[in-house]
Amino acid sequence: MPAKVSATCRNCREKHDIEIWDRINVRDNPELKPKVKDGSLFVWECPHCGASNLAHYMTLYHDPDAKIMIWCLPEGLLQESQIAALEAQLTGQEALSDYVLRRVEDVGSLIEKVNIFDSGLDDLTIELCKYVTKNELQDEGTPNPLSVESKLNLNNEEKANLSDASLKFFKIDGADHDIIFSFPKGGKMNILNVGFNVYEDCAAIIRRNPQIKPDSGFAKIDSSWVHKFFR
Ligand SMILES: [Zn+2]
Repeated sequence: MPAKVSATCRNCREKHDIEIWDRINVRDNPELKPKVKDGSLFVWECPHCGASNLAHYMTLYHDPDAKIMIWCLPEGLLQESQIAALEAQLTGQEALSDYVLRRVEDVGSLIEKVNIFDSGLDDLTIELCKYVTKNELQDEGTPNPLSVESKLNLNNEEKANLSDASLKFFKIDGADHDIIFSFPKGGKMNILNVGFNVYEDCAAIIRRNPQIKPDSGFAKIDSSWVHKFFR
């Protein structure tokens, strides 16, 4: 069931009651899943001025069939002590022992995780793919530390566009299962194709290195996590 909270429009500053889903169970409410994936569940339109607003709240995405729980907790919403108490309460449920538990700080990252798991992929491997891809944009002469090459064949302008962009997994595409990343640049969404062989190579690296694993509890798997293992 959605809850009602008061929210302020970013445009006209009017306050309105909006519906929020602080718990999203996609078995009980399968109609919510497409709205999570396209982001519309988190957008509300101001009845006063018509502006679209992104709702800023904490939500727990739960897919009991896939045994996945993703806790979206916007940065700065809670104190560290409150987060720890909530996490202990959530992970204290015995039924969660074989779950994939993840924590993200924004809706875009929540959508990405749902897309990754829906595609049957592993988010640790996807983060490593992003790292490898970004690495290839560095100086040509620098050897790739992981000996994985994505063979992007980008021109210098494309490289410059990508170097400071934040990649998000979007989908798997085509007969070759290309990995499609999206990234915002110049006010629009751009896409980047990376061969599935890169994913397979990264998965092999993770298999060979058991120390590359998530923290316990609701783990954050993002670029900072990758950088704990590779520089
Ligand atoms: Zn408004």
